[in-house]
Amino acid sequence: MFRTRILLLVAAVALASSCSTLTDKPASANKDAASDITDPLTGNPLAEPSTLPFEAPPFDKIRDGDFQPAIEEGMRRQIAEVKRIANNPEAATFDNTLVALEKTGALLTRAQRVFSALAQANTNDILQRVQKEEAPRLAAHSDAIFLDAKLFARVKSVYDKRAGLGLDAESLRLTERYYRLFVRAGAQLSAGDQDRLRDYNKELSSLSTEFRSKLLAATRAGALVVNDKDELAGLDDAELAAALEAGRARLTPGKYVIPLQNTTQQPALASLKKRDTREKLFNASIARAEQRDDNDTRKTITRLAELRAEKAKLLGYDTWAAYVLDDQMAKTPERAIKLLTDMAPAAIDKAKGEAREMEKLAKKDGIRFKPWDLQYYSPSAKKEGGALQPWDWQYYSEQVKKKNYDLDQNEIKQYFELDSVLQNGVFFAANQLYGITFKERHDIPVYQSDVRVFEVFDQDGTSLALFYADYFKRDNKAGGAWATAFVGQSGLLGQKPVITNTCNFTKPAPGQPALLSRDNVVTMFHEFGHALHGMFSNVKYPLLGGTSVPRDFVEFPSQFNEHWADEPGVFANYAKHYKTGAPMPQELVAKIRKAGTYGQGFSTTENVSAALLDMAWHTLPRSVTIVDNVDAFERSALKKYDVDYPLVPPRYRTSYFAHIWSNGYAAGYYSYLWTAVLRDDAFYWFREHGGMTRENGQRLREMVLSRGGTEPTDALYRAWRGRDPSVEPLLEVRGLKIAKSGKNR
Ligand SMILES: [Zn+2]
Repeated sequence: MFRTRILLLVAAVALASSCSTLTDKPASANKDAASDITDPLTGNPLAEPSTLPFEAPPFDKIRDGDFQPAIEEGMRRQIAEVKRIANNPEAATFDNTLVALEKTGALLTRAQRVFSALAQANTNDILQRVQKEEAPRLAAHSDAIFLDAKLFARVKSVYDKRAGLGLDAESLRLTERYYRLFVRAGAQLSAGDQDRLRDYNKELSSLSTEFRSKLLAATRAGALVVNDKDELAGLDDAELAAALEAGRARLTPGKYVIPLQNTTQQPALASLKKRDTREKLFNASIARAEQRDDNDTRKTITRLAELRAEKAKLLGYDTWAAYVLDDQMAKTPERAIKLLTDMAPAAIDKAKGEAREMEKLAKKDGIRFKPWDLQYYSPSAKKEGGALQPWDWQYYSEQVKKKNYDLDQNEIKQYFELDSVLQNGVFFAANQLYGITFKERHDIPVYQSDVRVFEVFDQDGTSLALFYADYFKRDNKAGGAWATAFVGQSGLLGQKPVITNTCNFTKPAPGQPALLSRDNVVTMFHEFGHALHGMFSNVKYPLLGGTSVPRDFVEFPSQFNEHWADEPGVFANYAKHYKTGAPMPQELVAKIRKAGTYGQGFSTTENVSAALLDMAWHTLPRSVTIVDNVDAFERSALKKYDVDYPLVPPRYRTSYFAHIWSNGYAAGYYSYLWTAVLRDDAFYWFREHGGMTRENGQRLREMVLSRGGTEPTDALYRAWRGRDPSVEPLLEVRGLKIAKSGKNR
């Protein structure tokens, strides 16, 4: 997942703001009265650019109380800067309007980037309060810029005469992007409609923040707490120790706590032998945000969906998805939905095959595979006691892997020690492809003691970037994994990238090594792919830097990077036994290969159904968006798209689908599958051209990874690949065939 995008819109892009709204109604009149004699930022470490290498955030000096004044003052200054641009008596030029806009908002960008990163990765009551208070103000701030009529008139005048200005390609692109951003933000609406839009935006941002806080609390509260170790039979000693440690961290020493991961299925389900425990854990997961308490997210969600539809209508689109996709590689919801529904039947067919294999083993335990129509979601729904249930899937899938492929995750993970995977795998692959090297730095302050910092050097020894790694799960960290930037690359501003990766790997008990699952390993390569996209950025304008590409392209570099986890030369380099350092035995490697695409039916199905659920919520026209029963809507949506296969629920249910309610992926979750097509297609290009070589890596870096948003992504991809992407490699990689009929039952 990639998280900087929201930031860029609010800070870097939204640096274009106008002044009107905020001056009418100062968000913080009590604090930043312009006549204050004392500078509100006296002694605030965010006030000036950091003097650390790469302008790295001075975490040793920043206190929780520093963010709010810096953000408030940052908005005030940016508005003043933008006002000067809008009121410039000279005729609008590229330099005095667009380049000038790119230079505004330095303080806000600096404060916002660090604040947002911490609010996700290491939050607390203060940060959550600030987030809640500032979210609507930041939304208003963005509107103040994009809905400023005088400013828009200047942007439009440059845009209208752009062809005759003799601009270079990147400057031309900047002009077009700005114009489009203004139009999409409502610059052409009537004054009355702009007022409504401002209200919508403020409420939307508050609701997203509200959803995020509720989900964090609900996820924490939803953890499975067990008194008796026997209930957890199947977990190994390290996992039990971690569960005890989690209990201690929650001040309930002696209790075993299995914290919830953000997905529907929970990793521990693969090893828990007791069916009752599995059922409890699964139900805790799917019902985490539906407890009819303060953390129940459903009311927030229905209002969000309704407001988004309303906003889309105001901007001239039928649905929120139509509005979003208009600015994406996919262009229309229909094209995205078609990709998903084309893939679904083959995925479900394959999942059913996987279930039949599991049945052979499950039968011995008195469990039958019996497709049934009950909705598994509702914990109160009637269950068929003897039939295979979704909470059995991971467990028996694991058993099948053990039996048919003789694959044992506990054995495998002894070869995936975190530091080796990072340095001998992730970094090694990047070195082989792109020539970069890494050196850990212990002198750069971090925000939490688990965080590590590396300096990244280019082939010729020049310093390229800083990379932060924050890999372990904490109760104050949002779920999932993501990348973001503390500082974005820009030639204009003379800034080099400072990138961070955040994951939720189980933290080992003190003194124990961190052993990863294969999924964890892939996640690490994935997030590092985002990091590479940010670190290789070589553009002039901040608006076009690094990962400033459409959502359905931003997951391409990250997913593409996953492939190198399995590259034999890379794999052999990192997969070494954590005690002995011995390489993974060839027989075990061969077994992993043989297991191949087993499990792809399940994972493709859970992803496709989540993506279609997202589309269902965001293709509701305004006239029908009042949804009073979230769960009923979810059921009917899955049915409508023929992905209501009870044994494989969506990867996220509506009520805890953070991607779409608070992380900027609304009508965008399909992008994982969309970019998966690019990923496999791109990998085939490497295969066709000699594989993992410096030359091939360099070509990708120069033509795609360093280019940010300086060209439309379809053109960028076409130039590199020599043609448009093809879906065939993905189907082959996953062992899927597109079924001819659209029905799967
Ligand atoms: Zn990602």
